[in-house]
Amino acid sequence: MKLELTDAKKWINLFVEKLEANKSELNELDTAIGDGDHGTNMDRGAQAVTEALGKKEPENLTDLYKTTAFAMIQKVGGASGPLYGTAFLDMSKAVKEDNLELSDLIQIGTDGIKRRGQSDVGMKTMIDIWQPVTEALKANKLNQQVIDAALNNVKELVATKGRASYLEEKSKGHIDPGAQSSAYLFESLIEVIGE
Ligand code: ADP
Ligand code: MG
Ligand code: MG
Repeated sequence: MKLELTDAKKWINLFVEKLEANKSELNELDTAIGDGDHGTNMDRGAQAVTEALGKKEPENLTDLYKTTAFAMIQKVGGASGPLYGTAFLDMSKAVKEDNLELSDLIQIGTDGIKRRGQSDVGMKTMIDIWQPVTEALKANKLNQQVIDAALNNVKELVATKGRASYLEEKSKGHIDPGAQSSAYLFESLIEVIGE
């Protein structure tokens, strides 16, 4: 399936709402294994996205994803800002000629994060959500269980990238904050496309 502009806008708006609603939860997750600012960072980005999209209604998918990317790069900061920013920027470039299959779109975002973050699955980062979601979309079976299973899996991992990796074994037993914010991104997607 392909995500058209109207649904893609709904997707981003829902994501922004969830980031704002769960700011303290994301900060708490980051307090346990990082520096406690992931909720504040993402909330700042969420507000910037809303403001940028409100200023000028995006006319196409490239506009929508590019505006989202720039707002996140400029306002989220930390490690996560450039990573989300790269994902959305790569996605904006990929849809330039023609809209593509949703699974290919998310694959491109995932690859962007891996490239920018020098990361891969199993390192206890947002990639541990993006990758299983990509695979589920390819198999046409993205649903809430996929997200829940990915979060359960990420909880038990030992971090080898990002701030949480300083804790080594002690990072085990905690949900990675970036994985949780990415879970909100894809829960928003499920709300738009259905299970
Ligand atoms: P900071 O760690 O700079 O305070 P945030 O708290 O906003 O930034 O974001 C932390 C999140 O970023 C982590 O939970 C993790 O999911 C993600 N992250 C950090 N480094 C990487 C990386 N190299 N690759 C993928 N994701 C990463
Ligand atoms: Mg942090
Ligand atoms: Mg920080």
